[in-house]
Amino acid sequence: MAADCIFCKIAGGKTETEFLYENETLVVFRDIKPHTPVHVLIVPKKHIRSVNDLTEADSKIISEMMMVAKEIAKKESVSESGYKLLFNVERGGGQVVFHLHLHLMGGWKR
Ligand code: 5GP
Ligand code: ZN
Repeated sequence: MAADCIFCKIAGGKTETEFLYENETLVVFRDIKPHTPVHVLIVPKKHIRSVNDLTEADSKIISEMMMVAKEIAKKESVSESGYKLLFNVERGGGQVVFHLHLHLMGGWKR
């Protein structure tokens, strides 16, 4: 756990944040300021700053994040209508929380 990292605190169960899903690798919770009707964050328990910091040893974490995203999309009823999966990388890429996370966004009426 990194000091002063909000997602380390959340993933470690140290806040009131409700999990949609949790396993030994990651947690899933709703974005506090949703940009879309369904806006969920898939967050590994391991503190990794961004995609830039991934190593070969993190491959399993990334694949789990994608597989869980697919299942959460189903649960949130956006599989059929469609959704976006997004990693913001560093400041220029829109990242503001420097603990790796995958955005799952969907639920538009299109
Ligand atoms: P980023 O721009 O770093 O890719 O996305 C960070 C996301 O985390 C933002 O959409 C922001 O609303 C969300 N977020 C930041 N702090 C919290 C928090 O304490 N709780 C929750 N649930 N979401 C947060
Ligand atoms: Zn962290």
